Formats: sequence, structure tokens, C-alpha cells
Amino acid sequence: MAIVDSPPALTTVTQAYRFAIDPSPEQANLLRSHIGGSRFAYNALLGLVKANWDENRARKEAGENVIKEDYLGTSHFDLLYLWAANRDELAPWWAANGSSTYNDAAQRLSRAFTNWKKGAAKFPTFKRRGRSGSVRFTNTAVRLSDAHHVRMARVGEIKTYESMRKLHRHLERGTGRIMAATLSQTSGRWWVSFSVEVKRQVPVTRPPERVIGIDVGISILYTGATPSGGLALSVANPRHYQRSEAKLARAQRVASRRRGPKNGVAPSNRWLRANARVQQIHHQIADSRRNLIHETTTYLAKHYDRIVIEDLNVKGMVKNHALAKHISDASWGEFRRQLEYKTTWYGSELVVADRFYPSSKTCSACGTVKAKLSLGEREYTCEGCNLVIGRDLNAAINLARWTSQSAAAGTHSVAGRGGEVRPSRQNIDEPAHPVEASTETPILVGV
Ligand SMILES: [Zn+2]
Repeated sequence: MAIVDSPPALTTVTQAYRFAIDPSPEQANLLRSHIGGSRFAYNALLGLVKANWDENRARKEAGENVIKEDYLGTSHFDLLYLWAANRDELAPWWAANGSSTYNDAAQRLSRAFTNWKKGAAKFPTFKRRGRSGSVRFTNTAVRLSDAHHVRMARVGEIKTYESMRKLHRHLERGTGRIMAATLSQTSGRWWVSFSVEVKRQVPVTRPPERVIGIDVGISILYTGATPSGGLALSVANPRHYQRSEAKLARAQRVASRRRGPKNGVAPSNRWLRANARVQQIHHQIADSRRNLIHETTTYLAKHYDRIVIEDLNVKGMVKNHALAKHISDASWGEFRRQLEYKTTWYGSELVVADRFYPSSKTCSACGTVKAKLSLGEREYTCEGCNLVIGRDLNAAINLARWTSQSAAAGTHSVAGRGGEVRPSRQNIDEPAHPVEASTETPILVGV
């Protein structure tokens, strides 16, 4: 890899910031009005387009000459225009909500039509009132007043639960620009998320020095090893679901005994309360899962120059039902996605090993490749050199040594030993016995 001999450059990345907000009861009513207004405009526009198309079809069948201009268009602007022409009649109250509300509805509906025309989705359907909803605002409608308050047109200043210090600093320094803000309500909580264009300094590219290979597993979520065979990271799967499962099951049983909405009869207050509880537990599970992935990926991107992971075919594996729950629990795709952007932030490099590289089946000491290794075998036992080693650690070591040459040179190349991307600080002659070669204390996360 070339060393770039120039001052650090600025790069622009789009980053999302999400904050829980605490609106007053009056403000919550106004926020609901925006979400309701957007849904109304969406449904009204869809109704107008459908009626027009139906009418044209009927006229055609009656033998009338129908021309292209008779059809209402579905572009964003067509729909905005259609709304402006009909809003006074359909929604005399429209001015109570910010104009972004209707712009958002027109844009979403236009996108739904595009997806349908491309064959990627079904014909747009009417949106029903639900427990959750969102509206996307353009950049000027929602602003930060300070690190603890957002200001929204027509709603005023709303307090946030947590500090927005980082985002606020970016805006003050001029290194961040809000592109859009989305207001949403899920399981009784209000959120605002900002899509922000952030300028970051790209560190000068260095040759890789600290290298780690990461094996993704089930009971140990992430196992990291250095090319010399040291265990460098071990993140246990907290099994959020299993631990919270009992809690969740209990809440669901309670909810099932309550009278839900049926044949137009409104649900009981006890049902609403019980369901809010179920949603809340789901939420806690998702939150802690997200935190664990963030913690791990930030640590890796900050502390390593080169991170090698497997090319997991997550979709294919989720089809295997026994594993499906654990895999989605562990959020493998999210792990890779976060590593992709965080490595650019911190100037490290993410390397995805070839999908056919047998990282699990290769002996990390002698390079022998097993023909078969079942998922149930938690230990790797080598017939070539009698090495016995944890399956995850063995795979992580092989990944740490992976180079594009390992794939090209065939599977018997002692896993890239002496390859092109040899870390300069590591002693390459050291026999790589995983246990003896451990020099650093591994970072242990989780239970
Ligand atoms: Zn061996």
C-alpha cells in the first residue's frame, strides 16, 4: 500500500443522529397533527390519482378517445401541484401544519408509484392510522437551538432527553450541515433523527501495522485474533432475546388476555397499556443490541489498522431456521455496515476475505485444510499437527493472516504466512502457536 505524502484531506460523509425528545402534551398534539396531516395528504392524493385512472379506463371502454394528457401524473411535482389545487377543499385545516408535511407525503407517494412501475412493489395502498408514524422535514423546518433543545416550525422548542453535544458542535463549527430531519413516533416515544453531512479529516494512509481477524459466532459473538495467533477480542453474545424472552413472553400473555380491536370495536385501555409494555421490551432489546455493536466496531476501527472479516452470506444463513434467530439477534449485517463507515472515519482498513476462503477449516498452525467441519464442533482438532484450538479463535487467526493471495494460491498456502501484507511490527518467524503467542491481554466484552 502506498503512503500518501500530502496533508490530510477533508471528506464528507452523511451521518445519522437520532434523539429521543420530550414534547409537552400540547406539543405532542401538534406533532401528531403533522403525522396525521401527512397521512391524510398521502391518502387523498392516492385517492385522486386512482379515481382519475379509473375514470379514464371507463371512458376508454366506452369507446371514447383518451389521450395521455388526461392522466394525472405521479412525479413528486405532479403530486405537489395536485395537492395545492385540492387542499382547500379536502383539508381546510392544512395551514396548521408545516408545508414539509405535504411535501413529504407527495414525495413518498411518488416513490411508491415509481417502485410499483419498476415492479419492485405492489400498487400503493392507503395508509392506516397506527401506533407509529413519521414525517420527514426539509433542512430548514427543524433546527437545534442548543445542545438540549430542537426548534420546530409551528411547534416551538422541544427538549431532548439526551445531550446533542456532538451534533451541536459540528453545526457551530460549520463541519456539519443538516440535510433533513425526520420526526417519528414509535411505541409511545417521540424521536427526531437528523441526516447530517459531516466533514471529516481523512488521516494519511499508513501501511497496515495492527491487524486483527474477526470471526463471527453464535455464543461468542465476535472473536478477534492477531496474525501471530493472539486472542485480541472476545465479545460474548449477551443473548438479549433469551434473557428478555421470559419478560417478553409474560407481557405478551398479559396482552393476549386483554380485549383488542375487533370488528370496529375500540381496544380496551388495558389492552393498549399491555401492548405498550410489549413494545417497550422490544425496544430495550434493540437498544442494547445496537449499543453492543457500536461499542465493538468503534473499538476495532480505533485500535486496528486492518480489520479482516468473513464475507458472510447472511441471507443464505438466515434461511437455516435453527440459526435464524441467533443470527438476526447478533445483527451481522449491521456489524459489517458499521465497520465500513467507521474504518473510513478512523483511517483504518476493512478487508473482506473471499467467500470461499476456508477460514474455519484451515489449521492455523500447519495449514492443513479439513474436508469437513460440522457446526457442532466447537474445537478444531488438527490431524496434521495435533493442534487443538477453539474453533472461533482458529478461524480468527486465519482471517488475520488473510491476503488476496491466500485465495489465489489455493487453500494449502499456510494461510498467507509471509504474504504481502505482513505487519511490520510482528515477528514473522515466531511459530504461531495461538496460546503461546498471546502477548496482549484480550479485551473481553459481555457476559
Ligand atoms: Zn495443523
